[in-house]
Amino acid sequence: MDDVPSWSWLEGRPALDFVNTVIRRGWTEIELIRSPADLDSWLDAAALPAPRPAKVTARDVADFLAVRDAALRLLRAAVGQGAWDAGDTEVLNEALAAAPEVLALGDEPGVVEARPVGSPRPFTLLLARLAGEVRDVLVAGPAELALCDAPGCGQFFFRRRPNQAWCGTPCGNRARVARHHGRGSAAT
Ligand SMILES: [Zn+2]
Repeated sequence: MDDVPSWSWLEGRPALDFVNTVIRRGWTEIELIRSPADLDSWLDAAALPAPRPAKVTARDVADFLAVRDAALRLLRAAVGQGAWDAGDTEVLNEALAAAPEVLALGDEPGVVEARPVGSPRPFTLLLARLAGEVRDVLVAGPAELALCDAPGCGQFFFRRRPNQAWCGTPCGNRARVARHHGRGSAAT
């Protein structure tokens, strides 16, 4: 596949947009960040907790994928898919430690702003903040966190109502059709 993804499924939530860079075609998982151009298009489309770097390199892609893979496994473990691995938490913690920040007083009363210590590379700061967003979901968000176990999806979303199984109606319909044809999950 050479075309740049449209990213139309992104939720506008940094932690989810980060890990929703793997998608299913049917039941097969596809990696969507395979080049600096892919990463560049994602940076334009995703909700980012820090300014996007002007340019990204192959090294940035490798760093992105290492933290993304750890985040993806931890979030899957949080919804009961796969094991929680201390090695993955260490990858996230190292990304956080690569760009430490202080909560500084802002310009107005009652406002604090995160300020990096020193001068991290913009991409290092972005990865650290993405790791922080994932940490916050893992600490506070698993009650609404869900994985849409439909063919052609496999994306994380936050439930908007209790027992919501699919990220949207099209996924529910595809999953029902797949189940009718003898392939599908136990989810309803
Ligand atoms: Zn879905």
